[in-house]
Amino acid sequence: MNRREFVARSAAAGAAAVPGRRLRARAATAAPWYAAMRRCGQLNFNERDPLTLDVAAWAEYWASLRVNALLVNGGGIMAFYPTDVPYHHRSAFLGTRDLFGEMAAAARARGIRVVARMDCNYSWEEALRAHPEWFERDRDGEPRRHNESTWLFKTCMFSPYFTEQMPAIYREIGKRYAVDAFFTNGWPSTGALGVCYCESCQKVYREKVGGVPPEQTDATNPLYRRYYAVFMDRLLEVWRLWDAVARESRPDAVYVGNLGGGIRVVKDLARIGQVAGWFNADHQGRSGDTPLWDCAQQGRVARSVMKGRTVTNVTGAYSNSRPVWRHVAKPAAETTLWMAQTVASGMVPWFHWLGGAPEDERWRDTGRRFFAWLAAQEPHFRNTRSVADLAVLFPQTTIAFYRSGGPGAWRGSERVQGTEYLQGLYAALLQGRFLFDFVHESDLSAQTLGRYRALLVPNAAHLADEPCRQIRAYVQGGGSLLATFETSRYDEWGDARSEPALADLCGFISAGDVVGPAANSYMRIEERHPVLAGLEGTKLLPGPESRLPVRLREASRPVLTVVPSYPAFPPEMVYARTPRTDDPAAVFRQRDNSRVAYFAGDVDRTFWRSGNPDLSGLLQNTVRWLRGDRAQPVTIEGDGLLEAFAWETEPGYALHLLNYTTPNLTWGLVEHSYPIGPQRVRFEVAPGRTIRRVEALRSGRALPFEQEGAAVRCEVSSVVDYEVVALT
Ligand SMILES: [Zn+2]
Repeated sequence: MNRREFVARSAAAGAAAVPGRRLRARAATAAPWYAAMRRCGQLNFNERDPLTLDVAAWAEYWASLRVNALLVNGGGIMAFYPTDVPYHHRSAFLGTRDLFGEMAAAARARGIRVVARMDCNYSWEEALRAHPEWFERDRDGEPRRHNESTWLFKTCMFSPYFTEQMPAIYREIGKRYAVDAFFTNGWPSTGALGVCYCESCQKVYREKVGGVPPEQTDATNPLYRRYYAVFMDRLLEVWRLWDAVARESRPDAVYVGNLGGGIRVVKDLARIGQVAGWFNADHQGRSGDTPLWDCAQQGRVARSVMKGRTVTNVTGAYSNSRPVWRHVAKPAAETTLWMAQTVASGMVPWFHWLGGAPEDERWRDTGRRFFAWLAAQEPHFRNTRSVADLAVLFPQTTIAFYRSGGPGAWRGSERVQGTEYLQGLYAALLQGRFLFDFVHESDLSAQTLGRYRALLVPNAAHLADEPCRQIRAYVQGGGSLLATFETSRYDEWGDARSEPALADLCGFISAGDVVGPAANSYMRIEERHPVLAGLEGTKLLPGPESRLPVRLREASRPVLTVVPSYPAFPPEMVYARTPRTDDPAAVFRQRDNSRVAYFAGDVDRTFWRSGNPDLSGLLQNTVRWLRGDRAQPVTIEGDGLLEAFAWETEPGYALHLLNYTTPNLTWGLVEHSYPIGPQRVRFEVAPGRTIRRVEALRSGRALPFEQEGAAVRCEVSSVVDYEVVALT
């Protein structure tokens, strides 16, 4: 056991020795109310709802889900209470009702906290006429209409609408209803920055940016770089202001922004995480070919910046596919698996329906069943620590800004491409059934990385000096590292370095510009090595589409060499022109406990695009090799594709198993579950900890188990959609 392991294990043993009751009592005095919130519901009113909405019936429904907090519409675009704030548009059907107030009172009477759901993004023509300065403008000065509801106009976050009008509305609602929180729909979001030409923005461009920034994400442009900083500053200024206003009427209230986007982010999540008391992921479902695990990934991303503070994830009970149907339900199986991913990854589920008079009632029971089960098992969802000892670097600036210099065809739909390296590694880790956490690239201190056996870096092409320095220190301190392709070749904005900052650490010298993308290239097996386990019977492995030409820093024989691309068509032309080279396709180095693996090609992305299992196998073997002799904290053997999370919880430990074995993995929606058979689990608990009971919480059965030293073994006979194995 090295020093790091000793410290980590001692800390874990110490925490486990504290009785759960004392832990909870301490948390209750220090933590805000939303830190203890485990379930959350939302009814989104529409303008017509005041005519017919049955407040008591809705309050009963939400109470039956045992929600701790309920979101209902306060105002912004539309007031659902008799507002006195000028240009705060009342619902045309409000009449004498105070729908928000009625609903808030009904929720409170049932012990449910009230969050006022606001919308700061649009207002009406009467406001536009009185306050033209509140609104975004096109280049020609025209206000921007909503694309569907064309009578609404987009407000500008640099304008006084955000610093005067919205605070006036919050203050009115806060005074009248003493709400527990405010949430803004649609703002700030994690996506690309908007560019507006209103007077406020023109002033910002003149005085702070030095010109009008480009409308598309372009980190090569100095104006974009300055605008990004100014934009983030304003976003955080508004967030802090609204949070302070929320507290004026109630010291324990909080402002909650709208985030989400899964792994596809442009805005600086790390900075947002520093001001956010509560991170809400408006990540309600999937569409197109989005992989099923998109919600679990969201949990990992959010956790990498919130570090145990409150994260919620919205589940749309309606069919938020493409095309979207707001008033029919998604299949129960898809909705349930989304909520299961929410809680498995450590987030709090927030169940959402639109409209007070549903004609589709199927979603009601889906939410009720899952939430009632959650409530009954609540202590097992109070996580204190992740058990994973592998870290995957979340490469935010690469995802936001990376643009390959490769041929034009490779640049299409570029926002997605920045995520494909991570997506490929992620899929391989799931297939290998590894437990892992995301760590944000701006949070690689010894304190964060120290508890991980290895750091896995999926082409973090953009990487600032500080994370590079921290990764170096981590490896020098005995940590292991996987890096691929152009990792650390550029700074955070994309300015190329003369040599990738981590090249020496990875044992290579770069020898030219990126080659590819090109199909029909190969990696030739030169030497047997543990990373090639199971890849017998071939001298060739599929090559990456793109690669950085490299040479070895130290004289040795590469394990894998490059066979350059040659024609794939017509068959007469399909033979290797250069069957053998000395160019390494990968570098594997070992010094004491620290092991470093570097792939010169984009094996992760190529795996994601091709699905070729040789590439997944190579990545999985590499992760096993990086770990050295150290046993995995949890192993799960059996058939099927699953994603696992393991947590230390207040009562003990919980292993979450999400069954992704479905034909709808990358084409929603899941309608049926395909149960996977016996899963043999080995779970390493803290030394000295005796496990007295192992229980499958979804199937509600006690499981026979054996404990030998720290290792607890049990078998889960079947996982239908989701199972939680609780060890206490
Ligand atoms: Zn503007």
